[in-house]
Amino acid sequence: MTSAKQTENLNPFDIAKEQFNTAADLLNLDPSMRAVLITPKRQLIVSIPVKMDNGTISVFEGYRVQHNVARGPAKGGIRYHPQVTLDEVRALASWMTWKCATVGIPYGGGKGGIRVDPHKLSDGELERMTRRYATEIAPIIGTHIDIPAPDVYTNEQTMAWIMDTISMFSGGSQLSVVTGKPIALGGSRGRGEATARGCQFTVREACKHLGINLAGARVAVQGYGNAGSIAAQLLYEDGAKVIAVSDTGGGAVNLGGLDPTDVLRHKGESGSCAGYKGADAISNDDLLKLDCEILVPAALENQITEDSAADIKARIVAEAANGPVTPGADRVLFENGVFDIPDILANAGGVTVSYFEWCQDRSGFFWSDEQVNGYLEKIMVNAFNEVYEKSKSYKVDMRTGAYCLAIERVAEATRVRGIFP
Ligand code: NAD
Repeated sequence: MTSAKQTENLNPFDIAKEQFNTAADLLNLDPSMRAVLITPKRQLIVSIPVKMDNGTISVFEGYRVQHNVARGPAKGGIRYHPQVTLDEVRALASWMTWKCATVGIPYGGGKGGIRVDPHKLSDGELERMTRRYATEIAPIIGTHIDIPAPDVYTNEQTMAWIMDTISMFSGGSQLSVVTGKPIALGGSRGRGEATARGCQFTVREACKHLGINLAGARVAVQGYGNAGSIAAQLLYEDGAKVIAVSDTGGGAVNLGGLDPTDVLRHKGESGSCAGYKGADAISNDDLLKLDCEILVPAALENQITEDSAADIKARIVAEAANGPVTPGADRVLFENGVFDIPDILANAGGVTVSYFEWCQDRSGFFWSDEQVNGYLEKIMVNAFNEVYEKSKSYKVDMRTGAYCLAIERVAEATRVRGIFP
């Protein structure tokens, strides 16, 4: 999906460090603090042998990285994808540190992953792989240590298996050891749509600041999974016109507007947005270049690069995905007046409602949809405006503004805790 003439370094962890350093320079962050904050605290690589249905054994490689725990336990999803690498997990873990600090929830950052194509596994193989992975990372996860959640190609069933596996070893039901669980197992109302809903709140705020009327605004969404398909539906409910959507199978475009719920029905039946009737085909690359007001990258990293950023015509890019825009692209978008809402803000709704789930599991008292969405809106709108003010005061883009806010918070926690021993 990246351009052939690519010259930028697209290693996700190098990108995460560059983003951090840009803000750390602005803050004149002391070199010792810089070294502490940039380095992952703990990194575990595990091998996961799985009995396959045909009697053979396949061995998969898995990771869990805790980037920083100064402000609370590590928190972050688990990704199953054939291209997962340790550097990708490190980057995703560090983005979780800055995300949790940006929205002010009491967590550090973690992330996990298995290098596997889960679509090639049966349900039984997936369950055995998940339970073995959970067992391998069990020594470093837990309610007060590190709390996993879903990410790409994992879901509430994956979390149920992890919760059950950890519970089997502890002799009791450990509800708060993972979030993103089914409601029947201590999951939170609103968690399934939380990432997209948080993104919707930030888009609404951006529209207010830029004088864009969301009703009638044209929206293009790349990646039609949990984050992307629900963002499309929520923005559609706000009156926006969803003109294009895509996934790994290809895309569908109709400049007159699509019904995102009907596209999801089609994807459910056929496996992809591609081939949706009443729409033309569009590639993932061309979707990004569409003339629209709001572009929502909701798939994977490095989708908008230094080389392709000049082609972006959207006025707002809302990063539902983690890491979709490279530092080179950030510079081009900023120069061109494209308002980018960075991942560590735009998709923070997911971890925020995961935090609510953890609070509910620990107290044994469960909230209504209205309570969840009300608190989420408050946190997202407040975080957006804090980031906006930071970016204005430093005259930088929203990503650097968010990093400045987050680094100050994590640095302060580190300072008052002190360095052990
Ligand atoms: P998901 O597995 O539900 O969906 C992923 C979607 O992206 C699928 O539709 C898939 O076909 C599509 N996709 C994958 N590779 C693609 C490509 N190369 N081009 C176009 N489409 C592609 O995953 P998700 O949970 O929606 O996660 C998507 C992004 O959102 C990731 O970057 C993830 O880290 C981020 N995110 C998710 C959450 C969450 O709560 N689920 C929270 C914060 C951030």
